[in-house]
Amino acid sequence: MTETLEQTDWKAIAAKLAPVEIIDEPVLVKKRSRDFFWYSPILNAQLKKSFGDLVARPKTREELAHCLAVAYAHDLPVVLRGGGTGNYGQAVPLQGGLIIETTGMKRILEIGEGYVRVEAGALMADINAALIPQGWEMAMFPSTQDIATIGGFVAGGSAGIGSIANGALREKGNIIQLKALSVEAAPQERVFDAEEALQIHHAWGLNGAITEVTLRTVPTRDWIGCMASFDSYCDAYLAGHELATSQTIARKLCSVVDARIAGYFPRLKGHIRDGKHLLVTLVPREDMDALRALVDAHIGLLDLALTEAELAEKGIPHVFEFAYNHTTLQVLKADRSATYQQIGVPDPADVDAVIAVEQAIGDEVWHHHEFARVDGTLTVADLPIIWFKDEARLREIDGIYAAHGFTVWDAHTYHVEGGGLKNADYRHLAWKKRMDPKGLLNPGKSQAWEAVRHLSADEIEAKAKD
Ligand SMILES: Cc1cc2nc3c(=O)[nH]c(=O)nc-3n(C[C@H](O)[C@H](O)[C@H](O)COP(=O)(O)OP(=O)(O)OC[C@H]3O[C@@H](n4cnc5c(N)ncnc54)[C@H](O)[C@@H]3O)c2cc1C
Repeated sequence: MTETLEQTDWKAIAAKLAPVEIIDEPVLVKKRSRDFFWYSPILNAQLKKSFGDLVARPKTREELAHCLAVAYAHDLPVVLRGGGTGNYGQAVPLQGGLIIETTGMKRILEIGEGYVRVEAGALMADINAALIPQGWEMAMFPSTQDIATIGGFVAGGSAGIGSIANGALREKGNIIQLKALSVEAAPQERVFDAEEALQIHHAWGLNGAITEVTLRTVPTRDWIGCMASFDSYCDAYLAGHELATSQTIARKLCSVVDARIAGYFPRLKGHIRDGKHLLVTLVPREDMDALRALVDAHIGLLDLALTEAELAEKGIPHVFEFAYNHTTLQVLKADRSATYQQIGVPDPADVDAVIAVEQAIGDEVWHHHEFARVDGTLTVADLPIIWFKDEARLREIDGIYAAHGFTVWDAHTYHVEGGGLKNADYRHLAWKKRMDPKGLLNPGKSQAWEAVRHLSADEIEAKAKD
């Protein structure tokens, strides 16, 4: 059947979706059409009026398959949605249509030696809560673990807490297996093992509906959430660099935050020194003496060192909620004129280059660096607060970073090719052709798709080798 979206009888679609739970209350549908794109004033202007028409909430893969079959039969655009915490409008239905929210598919299916197998809609906090009593934890998770799903992380995210030790999601061994459903008259579930999982990972839900994820886990430890404060950003950065490269101190987070950003952390008032630059980290209890010595050596003070339970008792959020993209959120809670950018530091050891670019840009950019390990190599990403004037000035700032040898992974685009990927991923698009032959999944998010959609999957895949 082909019908235009305007002609779609959504009441009839809702009836066809039965017994799947649906949400058709317009206010709630609008709420579920948003993610955290509003971090970017540019995306906010582009996406704030894009809404879906109906939300389906499957509880099993059979219900999810039924939703996809209905979408296929009626040519409905489909956007998969987990917790809706993506930053680039990944989960925004650009062309309206059906939103499929996966949070009802949340079972933890199996915990074994070094792995966990879960349904795609499981919250990462729940996965960690199930793993820890058995002596394991996720090898990495985003700072949104309390509200984000594992399916959304694998489809939309890249790295997080744990990445300083265990690398990025895409690295060998971190994603063990993914299962995903196609969008066809009778949706098929395909299994993507090991490296094959990269065909689906970070494709923004364009090329299959992930049903199940098997991930690497690591032995859990008695982690202490720590914040050390420093008079100069340079000292804080150098302490971060030494910690990130330490052979003796284990750590699963290593973030450095400008004092002016830390001024926007009211929940830390009285727990950290005012007006100081911060090193935010998670270190196992047995390495605390070594951490204290490292902080001392860089003329800092360890202001806060608490377990998760002690933080909760004092009403302080997880320390990682002052790191990664939560840092930006803490500022945005107080002032919506802030935004951010994603910047790769060319040489993690070169603090002079970091300070030089800061001086070249001026006061409207406040630094925040995340240390991680990618393919075994130390990397540093700056997620700075930028006080937004207009797009022209933002692009000028991007240019200053680029002129100093820094990489800009644009956070102000809703095209999958525009940000971290930089180029079209033709393996993703070949699988889109196989799994979503009508091109119904998340339409409008890939610029490269329109140019290749008429080709066969093999022809698209061949472009990956060009
Ligand atoms: C405050 C804040 C902090 C963050 N910190 C981090 C961080 O530390 N590391 C990081 O990598 N990211 C981070 N992010 C981005 C985001 O939170 C993560 O990528 C998160 O894991 C997304 O999960 P979600 O369930 O919210 O996904 P959603 O936002 O709902 O979806 C993300 C993408 O995945 C697709 N998708 C969702 N479920 C499925 C499925 N079952 N099958 C196929 N496609 C699907 C959606 O269509 C969308 O394209 C942060 C964002 C915010 C707002």
